[in-house]
Amino acid sequence: MLTRRAFIRRVLQTISGALGAASVAAVVFRRRAAANTKTARWAFLVDTYKCVGCGFCVKACKLENDVPYEANATRTWVERYILTKKGELLIDTPKGARDGFISPNVQLGKNTYREVKPDEIAKAFFVPKLCNQCENPPCVQVCPVGATYQTEDGVVLVDRKWCIGCGYCIMACPYGVRFFHPVYRVADKCNFCYHRISQGMKPACVEACPFGARLIGDLSNPSDPVTQYIMTQRVGVLKEDYGTKPQVYYVGLSKEVR
Ligand code: SF4
Ligand code: SF4
Repeated sequence: MLTRRAFIRRVLQTISGALGAASVAAVVFRRRAAANTKTARWAFLVDTYKCVGCGFCVKACKLENDVPYEANATRTWVERYILTKKGELLIDTPKGARDGFISPNVQLGKNTYREVKPDEIAKAFFVPKLCNQCENPPCVQVCPVGATYQTEDGVVLVDRKWCIGCGYCIMACPYGVRFFHPVYRVADKCNFCYHRISQGMKPACVEACPFGARLIGDLSNPSDPVTQYIMTQRVGVLKEDYGTKPQVYYVGLSKEVR
């Protein structure tokens, strides 16, 4: 007997063959999130000047959101950027920085490391990454069954009951923040800890960061300090030219960041 997921996948394959991808995309089920925060507009503020790469945020996220600790899958991670005096740009994120950056050597491949001496470094910094909760999210547009959807308060969620694991959203996200959950066999990603923010709590990573490098705010509230910062100070977003309208704002976003 076919499981519901296998059945939907088979139906989609049939429809896709007959009508093409554009028609499949029209098979969308819309749901609304039952949030207490209907009028909120959630946004993140990440301060790269404050991040020290300790990885407490990554650990906290895994524990809070049922992401396997050992698996190479993570809803958030921290990248280390090193610009050498020779002009080389080295970037790594060993295990997503779950254990911090315990080695000064930069991991360039699975078993490839590059030793970088302090006097070689022109500039070094850390950049936490997470889902940008795009206002114009390509991942939502491509999901053929509406398992990925946007709430009224601006958070993009994945409904595990509906996801068929086709992976279209993983391919469509220009930020590489989605992954295939190794246990649930569905698409997964950061959701700003929606179960927490809907109840007036902070996301796990925000609470875990000892340096205040991660903050969440409500853009619909003009007196929210995060909103005031975003509206009045110099902040940047990732890949702005893609037109996705990311809702994760960065302080001190260096031009080298990808
Ligand atoms: S960052 Fe990727 S997964 Fe998150 S909303 Fe944007 S496109 Fe979707
Ligand atoms: S917990 Fe804070 S300082 Fe530590 S890596 Fe995460 S964002 Fe950076």
